[in-house]
Amino acid sequence: MKQQSQTRVEKPIQSLQEALDYCRKLGMRISQQRQLILELLWRSPEHLSAREIYNRLNQQGKQICQTSVYQNLAALSQHGIIECLERSEGNLYGSFTDSHSHVNCLDSEQIFNVWVQLPNSLVEKVEQQTNTKIVDYRIEFYGLCGKSS
Ligand SMILES: [Zn+2]
Repeated sequence: MKQQSQTRVEKPIQSLQEALDYCRKLGMRISQQRQLILELLWRSPEHLSAREIYNRLNQQGKQICQTSVYQNLAALSQHGIIECLERSEGNLYGSFTDSHSHVNCLDSEQIFNVWVQLPNSLVEKVEQQTNTKIVDYRIEFYGLCGKSS
């Protein structure tokens, strides 16, 4: 799995309001399109591709062009305001930028966020084996829901 390349925000963003506040703090203009994208990401439990984001906003009858969706997603993820997962099929976007793990469903291809902590004894074992001090981790789980897409 490829590493995520995004700037770290000092404090993880916990809500849509905080995401909007952070945009303002950075001096980013909050256009209606930018706000719609952030609202959609905060409403969706899944990680969405640019195409899905564009389709969903269109289905809601929002006037938005595809180029603007791509540009907004690039700007938001560059500033660490949204999560960007680099997958071979293309980037996926989510609302949570803090350290979290994923459950990748091999049936539905959905990716769920989970916040889990490894037992200290296991982290220590990893540290001993690699002679490092573990400061962060993200786990990729793979599962089956039994419902193929
Ligand atoms: Zn995620």
